[in-house]
Amino acid sequence: MYDYLIVGAGLFGSVFAYEATKRGKTCLVIDKADHIAGHIYTEKIQDIQIHKYGAHIFHTNNQKIWDYVQQFAEFNHYINSPIANYRGELYSLPFNMNTFYQLWGVKTPQEAKNKIKDQRDRAGIVEPKNLEEQAISLVGTDIYEKLIKGYTEKQWGRSASELPAFIIRRLPIRFTFDNNYFNDRFQGIPIEGYTSIVEKMLDGIEVRLSTDYFEHKHTLDKLADKIVFTGMIDQYFNYEHGILDYRSLRFDHEYLADIDNFQGNAVVNYTDIETPFTRIIEHKHFAFGTQPGSYITREYPAEWKVGDEPYYPINDKENNEKYNLYKAMAKPLKNVIFGGRLATYKYLDMHQVINSALQTIRKEFDS
Ligand code: FAD
Ligand code: UDP
Repeated sequence: MYDYLIVGAGLFGSVFAYEATKRGKTCLVIDKADHIAGHIYTEKIQDIQIHKYGAHIFHTNNQKIWDYVQQFAEFNHYINSPIANYRGELYSLPFNMNTFYQLWGVKTPQEAKNKIKDQRDRAGIVEPKNLEEQAISLVGTDIYEKLIKGYTEKQWGRSASELPAFIIRRLPIRFTFDNNYFNDRFQGIPIEGYTSIVEKMLDGIEVRLSTDYFEHKHTLDKLADKIVFTGMIDQYFNYEHGILDYRSLRFDHEYLADIDNFQGNAVVNYTDIETPFTRIIEHKHFAFGTQPGSYITREYPAEWKVGDEPYYPINDKENNEKYNLYKAMAKPLKNVIFGGRLATYKYLDMHQVINSALQTIRKEFDS
């Protein structure tokens, strides 16, 4: 009945559906959630676009991906510059000359470099083996203690000395006065929200919501020649090699009717270990909003178990090895395409998801 059954109306599934439909194919898109757009789902409440699954800032260095998304949205000029709150002291993020001045009073890049080198030397780290050592060798012990250790240990639920170093490497460190959290050339927030992007992609395509693939697998599989699966790969194979671990999040949303500006910034990170949440998002600031009230979200890291919403894959050695076993099982299945963050067990930014969906399309149609 359909050329493709697409499991998941998130970004990967929707780009695939849009491109396949453009090429004359018929698609049925299903999602177990009661809305489209997966984790990039936004909803307008009190005239403010709310990022329901955490702050989403679109950023990319890839001109083609930037041009591609422009057909679905107009972006504003938002630049992400979070503030860190450590026990009431405020610091600029990512780590840059503003942070170094606020912490140490240093005024030149050389003074900042000397300070970091001195702290790194005293810690005696030669070859960093984990996140703690990596962080200290990049920015020294003061920044590690105040801005990294507490946040990281809350976020991941384990000691920074047990975490892989690569997690921290995605944060820029600059010896210029520049608070831009990303190094990419292109950045912004879609003015009409992310859901509107996915709505446009899925326009005219049949979508069935509140439909769990595994509950109806037998019937659904018969409906299409091929399946594009964007759910959890371990679940697809019935957890045959064990469960892939995730870290979860809980979002506590609050509307402040009488406060038009709660924290003066879209994102404030709470980097001490005592505050149970990692950050507070004030959504209107993503869009330079001037509404009379404000909508804020506290983000609490949480343990994950099967059935909970999976957020961050735990890409340690054990889980990656398990994933490779599933990947090997997926390879010979010629009528199932696995894509997106859950089927590849990777933290992927939106631009990477779009890129990967477009590559999948090219492979499917051009070869
Ligand atoms: P998803 O959006 O998760 O879509 C998968 C879909 O499949 C879901 O809708 C799900 O309900 C559905 N599904 C799963 N299993 C089944 C099933 N059995 N049956 C039916 N449907 C099923 N990226 C950025 O570029 N910038 C950011 O600032 C940014 N911030 C982030 C902040 C947080 C807190 C998190 C967690 C992620 C962030 N991301 C950000 C990453 C971004 O969310 C992802 O790149 C994107 O959502 C991944 O799209 P996807 O289609 O792969 O997955
Ligand atoms: N991080 C930190 N302090 C901060 C912000 C980030 O220590 O104030 C560390 C933390 O380990 C986090 C990693 O940097 O997991 C990556 O941060 P990023 O903001 O990219 O991740 P997000 O939490 O937005 O997914």
